[in-house]
Amino acid sequence: MITPAQENQRMLARILGIDEDRAALQLAQTFAITAGQDEPTHFANELQAQLERTVRAAPADASSDIEIVIHAPPIRTAKKRLFVEISSDRVVISSSPLENAAAAPLHGIQRMIAACYCAGVVLAALIDGIDKEAVTDPFTVRFDALGATKDVLATPIALEDTVLVGAGAVGNGFLRAARHLDIFGELVVADPKVVGSGNPNRCLYFTPDDEKEPKAPTLTMRAQSDFPRLKLLPHVGTLHDIVEQQGRIRRVIVGADSRLARRSVQNDLPFEVLDASTTGTAEIIVHSHREPNRGACLSCIYPHIPDELSRAREIAAGLGLELSDVTESERIDARIAKVLAAKHSGLDEAALVGVAFDSLFKQLCAEQTLLSATGEQTLAPFAFVSNLAGAMLALELARLKSGARIADGKNYMFLSPWSPPHSFTRRMRPPIHDCEFCGRDTSHDALAIVWPELKTGTLPRIASNKQQGDGR
Ligand SMILES: [Zn+2]
Repeated sequence: MITPAQENQRMLARILGIDEDRAALQLAQTFAITAGQDEPTHFANELQAQLERTVRAAPADASSDIEIVIHAPPIRTAKKRLFVEISSDRVVISSSPLENAAAAPLHGIQRMIAACYCAGVVLAALIDGIDKEAVTDPFTVRFDALGATKDVLATPIALEDTVLVGAGAVGNGFLRAARHLDIFGELVVADPKVVGSGNPNRCLYFTPDDEKEPKAPTLTMRAQSDFPRLKLLPHVGTLHDIVEQQGRIRRVIVGADSRLARRSVQNDLPFEVLDASTTGTAEIIVHSHREPNRGACLSCIYPHIPDELSRAREIAAGLGLELSDVTESERIDARIAKVLAAKHSGLDEAALVGVAFDSLFKQLCAEQTLLSATGEQTLAPFAFVSNLAGAMLALELARLKSGARIADGKNYMFLSPWSPPHSFTRRMRPPIHDCEFCGRDTSHDALAIVWPELKTGTLPRIASNKQQGDGR
């Protein structure tokens, strides 16, 4: 079984093209944070949480490879230093000392977003080549560029008839961020899977002791105390199971970990969708829509790859094999078993020999541990990447509830965790013309049956939903 540290090593080895032993040495580097009182201390605690599952916290009073200094004089012996300045509308991170005016208090989600970016800057300073872009110095996180302004984040959020799909890394990050919102009501957390041994490298509510425990109840049990007015209800199963029982679900918040799972959510005909995903450590996508939707749907954003109508290509890409490997034989031989065991954590090489490619593909589909469409392993990102995606998902919920999302019409955001956010990271993304969901009349017919309110132009309201401030 793979440990959280090994999961990080594997990720880094792949990014840098080095072996896992060398990656382990890079990740054995230490950090220390020196912070002033009040907001700098709160910021330091969030940064510590985001960093300590990837690199090591230096013991008190010991020297460190990097010292992060937040509105305080440096006190450590350190090879490198980063300075953080916190203002009401931005956080600046630089290798040069900053002005150090008094720090302004941040909203908890602003703090989490900036701390995640800061963790990326720290890793880029420690590990050559880890970031995909040139390092920006100073690195400025402007909250208005993301729409993460305090008025939006202060919106009261009543939840009911809402399912968080996926209790993995993005789901953990979503709740870690959402606890800072004025949020109340009920939220179902659905995930059919158990905690994998590597998961705690990025799931901040999980510990290594949670291995093999079902994700949904583990997450709701740990997170509940952060939500005095929101009841978290675990469901060990998929959204589809819930829809089969209840008929329809109004709002889904999607942190599932595969493209397939996201398309499947769309087919369950939710009225409103909020979604965030990560691709390795390189990118974060955030998307939302509400019916009647004239923009992209989940299937537009996460389409099948063009030639995957060929089953063999789909299987080869999902398993990370050459097309010829899959077409030459129906079953896995010893050579392919070795390749597969090296690429997928948790597969037993000996047991694979003789298994049909199709069976393995279906099994990994069910477990949602396939490789990505491009054949890259959908390896776990570092904690700060998943948590940044989770925080953006909580922000998107606040944007929808405050009306800001509908007012600006921007349904899509693509950002790199390694570059400062710009105002143009958000945009309106139209549907693709041959979408397997919204490109078909049958999908719209099905939506009209499940949501008859669409025909009359009235928005669906659940009888129990009488709360003010619901954003409708
Ligand atoms: Zn579509």
